[in-house]
Amino acid sequence: MLTVEETWGGVRYLVTHHANPQTIYDELNREFWGGRLPRYRVVFESDDHPLPDSDDGFVLGACDHDTQTIVVHALSETRPGGLRRIVAHEMCHVALPDDGHGEAFQRELARVMR
Ligand SMILES: [Zn+2]
Repeated sequence: MLTVEETWGGVRYLVTHHANPQTIYDELNREFWGGRLPRYRVVFESDDHPLPDSDDGFVLGACDHDTQTIVVHALSETRPGGLRRIVAHEMCHVALPDDGHGEAFQRELARVMR
């Protein structure tokens, strides 16, 4: 278990996670990529690892290819599909770093989400 602090709408929450996002990354890497994706570090959002601001809503995850780090929102487990869905989404960016949210990305996401 892992407890992290998260500020959301000006309110500070303590969120306890039962899943470790790094473990989810490693499991999905084995299951869907045969362990071939580079081992990115997966961390919850914090002051050291902020998520980017977005104009079009709520950012749940981000993937930084330069530092090989994925940051996930601390409240991900409360969202539909939870942490696994967000880690899987960011992993498709690791697999296809130049595709954005293009067609190849959507196919890869569908494969992992089945
Ligand atoms: Zn994305």
